[in-house]
Amino acid sequence: MENIKTKICVECGSEYLANSSKMSELCPECASVLYGYKNCNHIFENGKCIKCLWDGSRSNYIKHLLED
Ligand SMILES: [Zn+2]
Ligand SMILES: [Zn+2]
Repeated sequence: MENIKTKICVECGSEYLANSSKMSELCPECASVLYGYKNCNHIFENGKCIKCLWDGSRSNYIKHLLED
């Protein structure tokens, strides 16, 4: 296995692949919703995106933003 660096998103609490996000502390999903960065084209397998490792978690704040 190569050197894959994972981080925990401070917003949703999901693990994500550090290289997959433009933000240092947010997964691609939260970075997209909060700051308009390009989101990952998630492909879910076994409950996790195989590209960025996001597990589908959303904070209440993110859910609220998406509802509007
Ligand atoms: Zn997140
Ligand atoms: Zn993804």
